[in-house]
Amino acid sequence: MAGKIPPEFIDNLLSRVDVVDIVNQRVPLRRAGSEYKACCPFHDEKTPSFTVSPNKQFYHCFGCGAHGTALGFLMEYDRLNFPEAVEELATSVGLELPTEIAFQQGPDNRPLYELMNQAADYFSRQLRQHPQAAMATEYLQQRGLSGEITRDYRIGFAPPGWNNLLQQLGDSNEKIRQLETAGLISSKNDKQYDRFRDRIMFPIHDARGRVVGFGGRVMGDDTPKYLNSPETPIFHKGRELYGLYEARKALKDLPSLLVVEGYMDVVALAQYGIRNVVATLGTATTADHLEKLFRSAPEVIVCFDGDRAGKEAAWKALETALPLLRDGRQARFLFLPDGEDPDSQVRKHGKDAFLAKMDQAQPLSDFLFGKLGEQVDMSTLDGRARLVALAKPYIEKLPKGVFRDMMNQQLARLSGARMPAKPATPARRRSSFRGSRPALMKPIHRAIALLLQYPELASQKNLPRTWMQLETTGTDILKQLLEILQQNPTYTTAVLVEHWEDDSIRHHLGKLAAIDLAITGDQTEQFHGCLQRLEKEARQEAGKQARNKLRPSDMTEEEKKLLRQLYSEKKPG
Ligand SMILES: [Zn+2]
Repeated sequence: MAGKIPPEFIDNLLSRVDVVDIVNQRVPLRRAGSEYKACCPFHDEKTPSFTVSPNKQFYHCFGCGAHGTALGFLMEYDRLNFPEAVEELATSVGLELPTEIAFQQGPDNRPLYELMNQAADYFSRQLRQHPQAAMATEYLQQRGLSGEITRDYRIGFAPPGWNNLLQQLGDSNEKIRQLETAGLISSKNDKQYDRFRDRIMFPIHDARGRVVGFGGRVMGDDTPKYLNSPETPIFHKGRELYGLYEARKALKDLPSLLVVEGYMDVVALAQYGIRNVVATLGTATTADHLEKLFRSAPEVIVCFDGDRAGKEAAWKALETALPLLRDGRQARFLFLPDGEDPDSQVRKHGKDAFLAKMDQAQPLSDFLFGKLGEQVDMSTLDGRARLVALAKPYIEKLPKGVFRDMMNQQLARLSGARMPAKPATPARRRSSFRGSRPALMKPIHRAIALLLQYPELASQKNLPRTWMQLETTGTDILKQLLEILQQNPTYTTAVLVEHWEDDSIRHHLGKLAAIDLAITGDQTEQFHGCLQRLEKEARQEAGKQARNKLRPSDMTEEEKKLLRQLYSEKKPG
């Protein structure tokens, strides 16, 4: 995927953007010395440990270890894949994308996005102008929706009739084909017709605010009550969430997000000033959904009907959530009375009552132990032992960390069993977050890390060179880094990291660029030290090869010399 983007283009792109701007547009930064700081958008914290360096063009969080370049930030924060992040950055600095990049995601989807946007405009115009929109307007007014909410969520109206949209937008065969690909029209026996008819229309936006699909709701008793766009090249139900873009736009800070079932629930709660609400699109909550939600808010509250089906759906959501609950993330469950939905609840009881309900949502641990506890007799020793056996597999799905330790402790308390659960001390956690300790780094890794963090080291004269004979991926990368920097001495850390096409190399370099090297002395000396140790490795490697030749007469003069050198090195002193 990334392979088709020429590294020179990435280099050029990253030399033109400023990571400080890119981050600051999404997470307001404060200046702190030569760097910028903020509370980390990727984990929950009260004191800022998220740092952006304008010199390195790199961000790094000392709390959770998140790090990367402007591209990496867009991928994490806006949930973009690599080519999308490249496109987004290029557009932001007005850099023309070479066509091979624009099309490298397979077919070019830009016409589809454009068409969806035009359709959203059309539907929203019809709600205001169409002679038969009165019923839709009345329906929305009855639900208490103001013009402001209708506008914020771009709610519209698909008029009755078979070809309103088709006539409006399908002015060529090409367009008609695109309308069908976008899921806006269907065809039967070669006849095309509008997919959405006589419905209130809810546009579904992706993280970047582009319309990717629609949900249509009937006003009367027609079926189906809700109709969604089908899966298209730009719309995947299991990944998108209705209202997430709107919630992020309305609220700068999202401490929690509530997941509900329907569009009407989202807009009804928004009308009551509860804006941190999203809806799944007629599917169960998937891992993709939860991952996306946790990137926007540390706490996710999933709302369910209190009936049997609701409880079962909630249990599925719990199982999906467990592996994603790394420290700093929290999941809770809100059960509504039988047959009620958030829309009806908030209209009946008002905002404060609903907020109080959200506050009292059941923590994941209570739901888990409560449900499992129902299956055993907790008054007996056997029953309590059985609870441990039942709960263990679930707890083991949690990522290692404080939360998992706490769950183990709670299980120990409940069952009365003594568990060898060692709570992770904050100090231990911190060091593991920071990755391998600098002292234990291999010379090659340290050399690369030094060069990434201090690119000016490459401009020194008389750097040792024989280590270049070592045939390892690491030395190959170090060699290339030096070459790149000798040709382009102004390249920043970020440009260097993103230079490689291979995802795993980029990931690895990203880590080295962010690692705390704990440099006490002069980095030039340290760099030389690393290279000298590599020289020694190279000599030992060559010596090994020489030794593998049985008789000295098989050796070249050079190999003999090496061997002698090696033996003299081994002598003490
Ligand atoms: Zn962080």
